[in-house]
Amino acid sequence: MRAAFTTLGCKVNQYETETMEGLFKERGYSIVAFDEYADVYIINTCSVTHLGEKKSRQLIRRAVRLNAQAVVAVTGCYAQVSPEEVAGIEGVDIIVGTKERHRIVDLVEEVLKEHKPINIVSNIMDAKEFEDIPLFSAPGRTRAFLKIQEGCTNFCTYCIIPYARGPLRSRGLASIAEEAHKLVELGFKEIVLTGIHLGAYGRDLNEQVNLVDAVKTVLAEPGLVRLRLGSLESIELSPKLLAVMQQDERFCQFFHLPLQAGDNQVLEAMNRQYTTAEYQDLIESIRTKLPDAAISTDLIVGFPGETEAMFQNTVEFVQTMNFAKMHIFPFSPRQGTPAAEFANQISEETKKQRAHYMQVVAEQNAQEYQTRFIGKNMQVLFETEQNGIVDGLTGNYLRIYTAGSDYLTGTVHRVLLEKLYRDGLWGKIID
Ligand code: SF4
Repeated sequence: MRAAFTTLGCKVNQYETETMEGLFKERGYSIVAFDEYADVYIINTCSVTHLGEKKSRQLIRRAVRLNAQAVVAVTGCYAQVSPEEVAGIEGVDIIVGTKERHRIVDLVEEVLKEHKPINIVSNIMDAKEFEDIPLFSAPGRTRAFLKIQEGCTNFCTYCIIPYARGPLRSRGLASIAEEAHKLVELGFKEIVLTGIHLGAYGRDLNEQVNLVDAVKTVLAEPGLVRLRLGSLESIELSPKLLAVMQQDERFCQFFHLPLQAGDNQVLEAMNRQYTTAEYQDLIESIRTKLPDAAISTDLIVGFPGETEAMFQNTVEFVQTMNFAKMHIFPFSPRQGTPAAEFANQISEETKKQRAHYMQVVAEQNAQEYQTRFIGKNMQVLFETEQNGIVDGLTGNYLRIYTAGSDYLTGTVHRVLLEKLYRDGLWGKIID
């Protein structure tokens, strides 16, 4: 039997797809590409923006067109927040939200036998345990995601995630150690710790553990080459975490700290738990201890009530922050979130203009950050090769290109950085 997967959204979703692929492989299924003919299609959906939901529906319909006899299963955030809508799409056989994915193979085999649709979506707010699905295999790559945390209870006013992912749940340290060991055994050079609300790791566990303990647990794995953190809420970055990063060069000097807006009135309306001054203090404390660290961020433009003056405040603030990379999102009202009902919704045209303007600022900042490293030599983990050019990432997330062939992928080399090139820098291997 052949199973095909497609994933939308975040690193957590990607990790969950890999665990589900492993469950099918364990039961003798072969995994084929999503555009190929298959007996089972799994669409792991996203609901962060309306575009994510629209793409999810398109992929579901594509699966049905590829093989009308196939079992079509829909998982993930969109299935969790809108199961009726998903059930209304012709050809959908199974709906599994953001929990109980460990049952996915049994559910498929039940449909193959009974030919009746199954919907097991239930109230996510009742979820108690971290769904610990071991990774049986992972596609050949240099970097592996390791999910250690689930859920969020921050309820930022624009965000659908708490309603899709439920309360905080953390993976036990023993399971983290086991998975990290397995990933290193499988040949991965870099592990990326990921979660829905990574900084809240451990808050739900009885023992007094937090993200620093999870980090130390992975760093204790002898064969590990690199450890990287996924997205983190700025206020949860502790001095202890910075200290571990200063002590262990395997711990990548990279932070993704969503800012969302650079105006305090907008931050308050978003229910973000910090002011621009507090965020700035944190960035300065990072830069004092780790001057070369890369800091990237997310920004929402066109939030309801965002005046031109507030937008300009955000522009000025991000220009002082000099982010290495910025992801910019025009505000997308999510049904069921408070901000979708806020007055003073901004026109699509204005959102587009502000997103474009901010994109220009983002590219300028990125180039300024990259230029600082010309003439330096840095460690690069090479990942891919195309037409005699290999590329990979430094610890501080610079994309580095050099001449070379496939045998360099998955290896770490010291590279002298020579010039800006494409979305990164060109360099020469010196070791
Ligand atoms: S912290 Fe805010 S933006 Fe992030 S997942 Fe939680 S509610 Fe959403």
